[in-house]
Amino acid sequence: MNRGNLYEIKHPLCLENLAILRDKKTKSEQFRNSLKRIAYFLIYEACKDLPIDDFIVETPLVKASVKRPDKKLKLIAAPILRAGLSFSDVIAELLPEISIQHIGMYRDEKTLKPVWYYDKTPIEYKNPKDLRIFILDPMLATGNSSLEAIKLFANKNIPPENITLITLLAAPEGVKKIQHAFQDVKIYTACVDEKLNEKGYIMPGLGDAGDRIFNTL
Ligand code: URA
Repeated sequence: MNRGNLYEIKHPLCLENLAILRDKKTKSEQFRNSLKRIAYFLIYEACKDLPIDDFIVETPLVKASVKRPDKKLKLIAAPILRAGLSFSDVIAELLPEISIQHIGMYRDEKTLKPVWYYDKTPIEYKNPKDLRIFILDPMLATGNSSLEAIKLFANKNIPPENITLITLLAAPEGVKKIQHAFQDVKIYTACVDEKLNEKGYIMPGLGDAGDRIFNTL
């Protein structure tokens, strides 16, 4: 596993919330709250290299040169249903102009392969170089769903360096799969765990994120 484009957020407040998420006694409401808190950290970090532009505002005293993310950029978040929904409110709050383009895939439990059922992305994008894509997939396990999502955008001419994957937990196997196919895609995660088990779950992990978020256990 190469650390080049892999960013593991080890902020103490992230660690504390991650401990809450891992605990099987944590109920759905508290699970969602802790997940949301970590989402702020992940998204905040994942935006740190957004290009910025300058403009002028008038303070009550004087004209001042100020900065913001470059308005030429078109920002797109692609939450993978259903666990990815837990990050989409946070990204919409931090980047109010972002376009949220949902992607629906579920994992076939026998083959562990993703099965598509929804895709809200357009057939083609204008000016793909001005786009920044944030794929929201809280569990990077086998990497199959995230890889499908990355391919979807890469096949629409988005440069891989403009694509960022935001994930709560990652298995080394999933990270390697993404890096092997797309070394320029950036991955932001709260933790790279030890391994996958034989059923494709992240170990030690936190179980099925979707079930724990939506209380469908
Ligand atoms: N999806 C989950 O929700 N949990 C895992 O451990 C792996 C995939």
